[in-house]
Amino acid sequence: MKLSRRSLIGLALAGSAATLTRPAFAALTESGVRRLAFHNLHTGESLVSTYWSGGRYVAEELHNIDRVLRDFRTGEMKPMDPRLMDLLHVLQKNLDTREPFQVISGYRSPGTNEMLRHASDGVAASSLHTVGQAIDIRVPGRGLSAVRRAAMALQQGGVGYYPKSDFVHVDTGRVRFW
Ligand SMILES: [Zn+2]
Repeated sequence: MKLSRRSLIGLALAGSAATLTRPAFAALTESGVRRLAFHNLHTGESLVSTYWSGGRYVAEELHNIDRVLRDFRTGEMKPMDPRLMDLLHVLQKNLDTREPFQVISGYRSPGTNEMLRHASDGVAASSLHTVGQAIDIRVPGRGLSAVRRAAMALQQGGVGYYPKSDFVHVDTGRVRFW
């Protein structure tokens, strides 16, 4: 399944009416701005992005986010799901932090995912990382279990807990926990 930026934004907007009725996402209003900060631990790159402003997603900012979340092994970048950014934005608010998300893994090309799948147990064949719908993160100053709890409370997608590797996986797929 290949999703273009246009179709991802379409999906995000189509889902927003239902999304907004959920208490966990009450923080998402049409007015105001939505801001995210990232620090990619593999590339050392940092980004602060106001990706929502004036009642809409800002395409150039989403593109900047795609770049910092690219497959660092191959340099490939793909459009990341804007709903994943909204999920992170609310997660950040609920954790009461403005620290940048530390990024362990964002977009993964199918080739990279296949390589990782053979190298470790925790990598799915049809990983949502390969369609821009998943990210592995840490939050400075917040315990991993607190991040996991806050992500699960959103009820907005998958949440995976990887204490040995010290990260939490969140995605915009079905609501499920592991
Ligand atoms: Zn992951």
